[in-house]
Amino acid sequence: MRDIIEPEFEIDEKGRVLCKTHSNFEFFSQPKVNRYQQRELEKQLTCETCSHFFNDDCFFPRSEVNMIEYDRKKRNAFKCKLCGNKIDRMLTVMHKLYYKEKYNIELPLICCTCYETLKDGKFIESSKWRSNMFLYNALYAIYSLISVLFFILVYQVRIYYLLVFLLPIIYLFYQNMKKRKEIKEGMRYYQKYFIDSNNNNIR
Ligand SMILES: [Zn+2]
Ligand SMILES: [Zn+2]
Repeated sequence: MRDIIEPEFEIDEKGRVLCKTHSNFEFFSQPKVNRYQQRELEKQLTCETCSHFFNDDCFFPRSEVNMIEYDRKKRNAFKCKLCGNKIDRMLTVMHKLYYKEKYNIELPLICCTCYETLKDGKFIESSKWRSNMFLYNALYAIYSLISVLFFILVYQVRIYYLLVFLLPIIYLFYQNMKKRKEIKEGMRYYQKYFIDSNNNNIR
């Protein structure tokens, strides 16, 4: 049997999940003094730069890591519980999967944007703002549709032009309403799991 390296996770002050057994952990845990170092950290903070990935002796076999990365990047399988955004940092996903596999504990996935607003105590405020932004965009799509209809009626252009505009407008509308719904669901999730636990009188 091969020797397996267990990942060991910790969360830094920016909410990044670091792995203590990652071969680059030294670099990850050092304070980052400039933007270049911050960018370099974000770039390298993945299992794919780890010697245990190359040697295939991590708790997560290489083939599984590849599959997880495929799901994360291409299939958008890991979304923020609070806003529906894709999770940008791979180790956030690994952290969640590890706790699930090892201890059967469900950790909520939280994106860096939501993490920041939670830390500053501005989650609800910022979610309301984000949800309104999506609503305005959706209303803008309706406004565009009416403008196109108006244009077609006034200038008697062929109805064919409506079809050209129709699809992108419907897409814009749909995408923004979907994002808005995800933010609303996130706010409900927050109210249920983040507030109830500290504040019993809400129940
Ligand atoms: Zn690993
Ligand atoms: Zn989020």
